[in-house]
Amino acid sequence: MKTLTVSVVTPNGPVLEGEYEMLVAKAESGEIGILPNHIPLVSPLSIAAVRLKKDNGDKSLAVNGGVMEVNSNKVTILAQSAEKPEDIDVQRAREAKERAERRLKSKQDNVDHMRAELALQRAMNRLNVVSK
Ligand code: ATP
Repeated sequence: MKTLTVSVVTPNGPVLEGEYEMLVAKAESGEIGILPNHIPLVSPLSIAAVRLKKDNGDKSLAVNGGVMEVNSNKVTILAQSAEKPEDIDVQRAREAKERAERRLKSKQDNVDHMRAELALQRAMNRLNVVSK
């Protein structure tokens, strides 16, 4: 089976590097599936799971936006943060979700709604990746 090399990097260092048969990511324009020998591509990513397929099992990562580059059978994702399911602290994500929801409901003028909305998306993404 042909594979592509996937590398996910954050400011805290590499999160994952390996050979996979397929990668599915959520670009701002919708879901993109990348198979070996995909044409070169650069795309911003949404806050969403990145799914990686291998014959001995699939893997999902919670990726917080960033950029994906596909070139020469290699996919590089540079993101502000990215976690494997086993590294996600569920309690922390639940608390972040509740905090963001409280802020979004608040009628106070000093609440940055866009910031709270993004925090909510990050927390929900983490919880979704853990529950799969
Ligand atoms: P919080 O409000 O809990 O800090 P956040 O969404 O604001 O959440 P980020 O700014 O996205 O956090 O991430 C900061 C760092 O903390 C990153 O290294 C990220 O991987 C890590 N991180 C954030 N939430 C979690 C979590 N629930 N489990 C494990 N690591 C997390």
